[in-house]
Amino acid sequence: MLHKLTITDASKGLAKKEFSSVELTQACLDRIEKRNDDINAYITVTADHAIATAKKADARIAKGEHTALTGIPYSVKDAICTKGIRSTGAGQILDNYVPPFSATVIEKIEKEGAVLVGKTNCDAFGHGASNEHSMYGPVKHPLDQTKVAGGSSGGSAASVADDQCLFSIGEDTGGSIRQPASFCGIAGLRTSYGRNSRYGIMPMASSLDTVGPMAKTSEDIAFVLEAMAGHDKKDATTMVDAVPKYSQLLSADVKGLRVGVPKEYFQLDGLEEEVKVAIEGQIEALKNMGCEITEVSLPHTKYAIPVYYIIVPSEDSSNLARLDGIRYGVRAEGEELFDMYANSRAAGFPEEVKRRIMVGTYALSAGYYDAYYRKAQKVRTLIRQDFDRVFDMVDILVTPTSPYPAFDIGGKKDDVLAMYLADVFAAPAAVAGMPALSVPAGNTKDGLPIGLQIIGARLSEDLLLRVGHHLEKK
Ligand code: GLN
Repeated sequence: MLHKLTITDASKGLAKKEFSSVELTQACLDRIEKRNDDINAYITVTADHAIATAKKADARIAKGEHTALTGIPYSVKDAICTKGIRSTGAGQILDNYVPPFSATVIEKIEKEGAVLVGKTNCDAFGHGASNEHSMYGPVKHPLDQTKVAGGSSGGSAASVADDQCLFSIGEDTGGSIRQPASFCGIAGLRTSYGRNSRYGIMPMASSLDTVGPMAKTSEDIAFVLEAMAGHDKKDATTMVDAVPKYSQLLSADVKGLRVGVPKEYFQLDGLEEEVKVAIEGQIEALKNMGCEITEVSLPHTKYAIPVYYIIVPSEDSSNLARLDGIRYGVRAEGEELFDMYANSRAAGFPEEVKRRIMVGTYALSAGYYDAYYRKAQKVRTLIRQDFDRVFDMVDILVTPTSPYPAFDIGGKKDDVLAMYLADVFAAPAAVAGMPALSVPAGNTKDGLPIGLQIIGARLSEDLLLRVGHHLEKK
């Protein structure tokens, strides 16, 4: 049962020598072995590497040189580079790609002595909200295999929820950490834009991409975040601000905290009643802890999805141009040079990625740039100003993470707009660069998890985790 532990409990057990990292790691590997054929959370399992790392971690613990993450098994979304370990982004074009370097955040976590057990399935290069756009097949929901695990970091969420590792590193451009975390009943943090280095993360939309932790509790997220956050000279967008000891700031009182409830999020037609009731229950709980609850308005919320689906494809079309069969990955045959490019890209990208490239190329083309891309950037500023204004009045905002719980596999796959709308509550904070945490908020009567989203001002991760921690403990 070691695989069921949180980081908090596992690191205590390791420190007291109640069990070893090798035993803990083996428990997770056994669980993966038993479940991966059904759940499909992993594209690559790194069993030998994991046991070798766990042995080193045990030696370090024996010398008393450990931190909270030493010896803790974790997984990494396959769109994040890991040195010497295949990193496909779940796209055929990188099926054979073994990076010669690791992402900075992974280097930092490895330095703590955490144990990588495998690379997780996702929508190809982060495009999707159900993990059905993967070249390696969909991830199934651990509690009901007819349902999706959410996306795009669906494999990461399922790997944690199904006890196949203790935490995972995911990527969130417009909801890909929070939405699958909410579907699978775990905690997931989208950090402030610039809090963590994105060096070595396969880029999707560079002005929105973030990388962050997914784990069983807010406290576990705090341990991971304090290890991975901070300035990186290889990523000019990282902030120089000091990284707080998040795990030591969790227990401070939440009494008197000003909590805003943005009315636009509760007026959406597609918001399911059970989700609404669960979120209202959480708001009531915050009130009972002494928080002041106020209704607020973010009037430009309804433009977040349209803005997102102009800016993201535009940046996508430029970022994905590097995948051409020449510099990386799988190369197709072709009579002429052009055919080789075209055939490699045609065979290497799934339909959704091609759709983004085409929309983005169109939106950026001369004559349309002003009408679409520039306009979207202007509206993006209005969305950000909504948040800035509201955070003068309240400390945090609470909303549902998703309008509904996990949906059926195949339920939205062919309805592009329905899939895009899955991120209706996740996109606004992403467009504005704000941090947002999803924490479990109970289940539907069918037993599917519901997620509460807590949004804060830039660099308020400590506050979000504190509120999440108090709600989990209540
Ligand atoms: N579902 C969103 C999209 O497809 C979000 C993806 C993400 O955050 N990587 O763009």
